[in-house]
Amino acid sequence: MSDSNLTQRPPETADDRNDVLRVEGLTKIYPDGTLAVDDIDFAIKEGDFCVIIGPSGCGKSTTLHSLVGKIPPTEGSVILDGVDITDTPTYQRDIGLVFQDFQLFPHLNVEENITYGLKRMNASPDVVDERLSNVLEMMQLDELRDRAPRELSAGQKQRVALARSLVLEPKLLLLDEPLGDMDYKLQKRMERELLRIHRELDTTFVYVTHDQTQAMRLADQIIVMNGGKVEHSGPVEEVYNRPKTAFVATFVGDSN
Ligand code: ADP
Ligand code: MG
Repeated sequence: MSDSNLTQRPPETADDRNDVLRVEGLTKIYPDGTLAVDDIDFAIKEGDFCVIIGPSGCGKSTTLHSLVGKIPPTEGSVILDGVDITDTPTYQRDIGLVFQDFQLFPHLNVEENITYGLKRMNASPDVVDERLSNVLEMMQLDELRDRAPRELSAGQKQRVALARSLVLEPKLLLLDEPLGDMDYKLQKRMERELLRIHRELDTTFVYVTHDQTQAMRLADQIIVMNGGKVEHSGPVEEVYNRPKTAFVATFVGDSN
């Protein structure tokens, strides 16, 4: 009897963390007939920095927008912390999305951009003040709080976009090629910032890029997409060392 206890113990390496997100059979066919996402499944562990990579047009943005509810999937389910949220409205999902082009409100200053969502949710003034000052400090935006978006550099806009999502304390933060328009030096600096924020917060990141070297620097888990399919999803070491398909081997290996 005591033996069976031993044999049932999971191996030391077993990862028994909760799946914060599960996607099952997700499919998106746009009204013009384009099959953008083709019956994909994947899961993301709580606290991971997950990077979705794949060539342009493979369905990365469509996937993120389906997770957040901006695009209704044609088929499939999105499960957040064990709860099916496929039909839950975007604003009730507890998932943040940082857009590729930031999408700050041009007529609002930095502070107003950051607090807009909290105020819309009727957060109390105390909560708004406390969260605002935390996030301004974390993103080093204190001195820019009165600026209009047009007075900010790309890197500063990026920090405001991140602050605007983080202040809502989402369970999951989705980032769609957030460093795409920045020069290489700024990209590297922002990567370090993102890693620091990810470490400091209790949030899971899902980060989309077509840049394999960036994926390697950032990811705990990698999901490789191609032609609307998931080719491989797994820990970064596994995807690099034991790629499941020839495409994965070529794509992740082709880092120049
Ligand atoms: P990625 O983000 O990986 O570049 P997307 O998710 O943007 O890929 O696009 C996946 C496919 O869906 C592409 O073939 C793209 O042209 C197509 N697509 C994206 N948005 C629409 C849309 N609104 N209507 C029709 N096709 C679209
Ligand atoms: Mg895209």
